[in-house]
Amino acid sequence: MAITIQQEPIDILQTVFGYKSFRGQQAEIIEHVIKGNDALILMPTGGGKSLCYQIPALCMHGVVVVVSPLIALMQDQVAALKQLGIKASVLNSTLSPGEAEYTEELMQAGELDIVYVSPERLNTERFLELLTRCKPALFAIDEAHCVSQWGHDFRPEYTEFAKLKGIFPGIPRIALTATADELTRQDIIKHLRLENGRVFSSSFDRPNIRYRVMPKDNEKKQLLNFIETEHKDDSGIVYCISRSKVEQIAEWLKNQGYDVLPYHAGLGAEVRKRNQDYFIKNDGVIMIATIAFGMGIDKPDVRFVAHMDLPKSVEAYYQETGRAGRDGLPSDAWMVYGAEDIVKLRGFIYKSEADETHKRIEHQKLDSLIGYAETMNCRRQVLLDYFGEKPVSKCNNCDTCLEPVTGFEGTIAIQKALSCIYRTGQRFGATHIINILTGKEDEKIKRFNHNKLSTFGIGREYSKFQWKSIFRQIIALGLVNVDLEAFGALKLTSSSNKVLRGQEKIFLRKDTIKEKPSKTKKAEPRKRTSFTDPKSNALFQKLRELRLSLAKEQNVPPYVIFHDSTLIDMITAMPRNLPEMGQISGVGKSKLERYGKAFLEVINEK
Ligand code: ADP
Ligand code: ZN
Repeated sequence: MAITIQQEPIDILQTVFGYKSFRGQQAEIIEHVIKGNDALILMPTGGGKSLCYQIPALCMHGVVVVVSPLIALMQDQVAALKQLGIKASVLNSTLSPGEAEYTEELMQAGELDIVYVSPERLNTERFLELLTRCKPALFAIDEAHCVSQWGHDFRPEYTEFAKLKGIFPGIPRIALTATADELTRQDIIKHLRLENGRVFSSSFDRPNIRYRVMPKDNEKKQLLNFIETEHKDDSGIVYCISRSKVEQIAEWLKNQGYDVLPYHAGLGAEVRKRNQDYFIKNDGVIMIATIAFGMGIDKPDVRFVAHMDLPKSVEAYYQETGRAGRDGLPSDAWMVYGAEDIVKLRGFIYKSEADETHKRIEHQKLDSLIGYAETMNCRRQVLLDYFGEKPVSKCNNCDTCLEPVTGFEGTIAIQKALSCIYRTGQRFGATHIINILTGKEDEKIKRFNHNKLSTFGIGREYSKFQWKSIFRQIIALGLVNVDLEAFGALKLTSSSNKVLRGQEKIFLRKDTIKEKPSKTKKAEPRKRTSFTDPKSNALFQKLRELRLSLAKEQNVPPYVIFHDSTLIDMITAMPRNLPEMGQISGVGKSKLERYGKAFLEVINEK
C-alpha cells in the first residue's frame, strides 16, 4: 500500500524528540514499517522500542494504535508524548465514558497521531468498527510475549489479535518485546500472524549496567555501604525475598535517612498504588520490594537494582536488573547472596505441589542462576550465553572483569569437610562442622566429644570465613544437602562419593570480602548522574529541583519533562541562549518553547 510520508523520520527525531541520531536498528525498522511492512522487534529494555512506532505515527497518515497490557503505564507515556507536542491519547477502563467518547471523536476526525488501547478494548466489535472508519496507519503490539502461553505474562486477549490481519489487510502490524527466547518468538509470529514480517533482533546486552555479586557478610551493612558510596541521591529498587524482609529493610534504611517505601502483595491495592506513584513522580526514592513490584515500571532513571536474596532464575534476575538504567546512563545491578538463599529456594521447589518434570526444570533454572552467582568468569558473558548469544570478549564492566577472582584447588578441603560431616553422623549444621574443622573447643563440641574426632582441627589452614565460603560452594555444587527438617543438618549426597574417593578435582572461588575489608571498587570514572566537582553537582541538584516543581504542577513524572541525561548534557554544554539550548540531546522544539527559558535562567544564574 502506498503511504505518503509527511516528514522524514530523521527530521522528526531531531526536531520533535531532540535526539541527534537513531540507535541500533531504529532507522531501518522505521523505514520498513512506514513502507507498510510487518515486523517483530526484539530489543532489550531501554533499547528504544517506542520510537519504532512513535516516529511512524508522525510520518504516516492515520492513527497509530498501540496496544499494551500495562494500563498504569499508558498514562505516563501519553503524558510524555504530549510534552513533545504529539497528539496522543489513551482508551482504557480508567477513562470516564465522556472522556472515552471525546477521544473517539478525535480519532474519527483524524486529530490523533497515536492512541494507546488496552487489549480488551481492541478486541471489542465496537472499537474495531470505529477503527475501520478512521483508517489506522499501524498497529503496534507492545509486550508481545503476552501472546505466549508458556510465559508468565500470558494474556488470552492477545491471541485474538490474529484477526487484525484479516480485518485490516495491508495495514502494517508490528510486535515488540524484550523477551528473547526462541519459543516465545515463534509463538508471537504464529499467533499474531506475522509470518510475512521481518524479524529485527538486537543483542540483549545492557552495556551500561554494571553487574556485581558478592557473598553475604552482614547484608544490611553491605547495602548501606553500597548506597552511601555510590548512590546517595539516586532512585533505586531493592528486592527482597519476603514481605517481612521488605518491611524490615525499609524501616531500617528509613532510619538511616533515606526516602524509602515498601512494596509487596501484602499491602492494600491503594497503598501499593500510592507508593508506586510516589516512586515514579519523585527523585531519589528507594523502593524496597518483593518481585510483586516492577512489571510496567518504565522509570528511565532507576540507577540501581539491588538484590538482597537470590531470584529464582536467570530470566527473573535479568528482568529485575533490567529495570536499572533504561536511559542508558551508568547503572548498577548489585546482589548479595549466601548458602541460606540456595537452601531456601531449593526448599521451596522441593515442597511445592508441582509435578516432577516441573520441579526438575525449576531446579535447573535455579542452578543456572547459582552458577552465575558463583562464576569466576565475566558475568555478562555468562548472562548473554544463557540467552544464546556468544560474546567473544570480556565486558570490563562487571566485578569479575574489574577485580578478577582467583580460584583454588579445593578437593582436599572438600574431602575434609565431607568426612567431618560423615563422622558426626550427618546430624549437624555448617557452623558446628566449621568449628570442628577449625578446632574451636566450644561447649557443644565438648558435649558431643567432637574434640576427640580425627577430623578435629584438621582445617586450621582456612579461616572461619573461608570455610563458610567453601561450604556455600559445596552446597551450591550439590555435594551436600541441607536438611531443613533436621535443623539444617548437612547430609552427603550421591555426588559426594566421587570427591571423597578423589575421583574428581574441584576448583573453588576464592572469596575475598573479609581479607580486604576496604574493598570498594576502583573502577575507571564513569559518567554518573552525580558529578564529582561540587559546582556541577549543585547545579544538577538545582536543575532537578526545577524539573520536579514543573512536574508537580502538571502532575507528571519528572522524567517526562527532561531525562537525567538531558540535564547532564546541559551541565556539560552550559548553553547560554535558546538556540544553544536547542542543541542539547532531548530538547526538541516543543520542550524548548516550554522549558528552555526556565532552565537557561538556572544555568546562567550568577
Ligand atoms: P524500551 O521501550 O525499548 O524499553 P524506550 O523506547 O523507552 O525503550 O527507550 C529508552 C530510552 O532511550 C528512552 O528514554 C528514550 O527516550 C531513549 N531513546 C530512544 N531512542 C533514542 C535515540 N535514538 N537517541 C537518544 N535517546 C533515545
Ligand atoms: Zn565482565
